[in-house]
Amino acid sequence: MGARHQRDRAHGAELHCAGLKLTVFCMRSLSAAELLEVWERASDQHPIDRALTLLSACCEESWDELAALSIGRRDGLLLEIYQRLFGTALEAFAECPKCGERLEYTMSVQELASPAAAREMPLILETDEACLRLRLLNSLDVRAASRCADAAAARRMLLERCVMEASQGGSPVPLQTLQESTVDKIAGLLAAADPQAETLIGLTCCACRYSWQVVLDIESFLWVKIQVLAKRLLREVHALARAYGWREHDILALSSLRRQSYLEMAGSWPTF
Ligand SMILES: [Zn+2]
Repeated sequence: MGARHQRDRAHGAELHCAGLKLTVFCMRSLSAAELLEVWERASDQHPIDRALTLLSACCEESWDELAALSIGRRDGLLLEIYQRLFGTALEAFAECPKCGERLEYTMSVQELASPAAAREMPLILETDEACLRLRLLNSLDVRAASRCADAAAARRMLLERCVMEASQGGSPVPLQTLQESTVDKIAGLLAAADPQAETLIGLTCCACRYSWQVVLDIESFLWVKIQVLAKRLLREVHALARAYGWREHDILALSSLRRQSYLEMAGSWPTF
């Protein structure tokens, strides 16, 4: 491994490893007031924009820099935000697709975290029909594909965006001529190079023993928890403002422990 260099800005560092560049982010925690501000701003956003709003609140990087991160890298950072705000356990539930049994399960941040994609450089795929230079998909790609009319159009758009060059014997190869098997290989290579981009959870029904997989959507998981926390904070502000006449700004500046103590003394414990 090469030398570790401090970045110009104090918040992060870049590791240069065998020619690969991997940016290490330094994240900061959100205060109660900041969390409410982020919740309010992100409430009516598209999930992809919401993920970037959450990230930009916790990282010093610009929106454009965060949007250009691979999906796996982005989701790894969202997982880190989850851990900072809510601890290491993710509690979820699912319904068995076969018998309808409700299944509750717990995952840990550690077991969900994949090695970060170190390939923020072009990937090469050689097949019989073309030599392809690829890049990992990012939030801008997925956002653009989400506006396509159907899944086939979205797949075509993602293919066009992730292939930086396709050639055979020095001549360019039109992407529309690529066989489906080659497109599948491209998808396989991208998934292997950015493992956090799709996390599959294996589940087995305790009633009928049926096994299936679900995809972890860390953004929506995190957003649901933030919504619950934001509503709880608002109820606390409401109860303390009514009891003492304090302003929202001052109540949110209190530590959580102090807020809870004053709520107990005021006899105004909000019901959640
Ligand atoms: Zn079942």
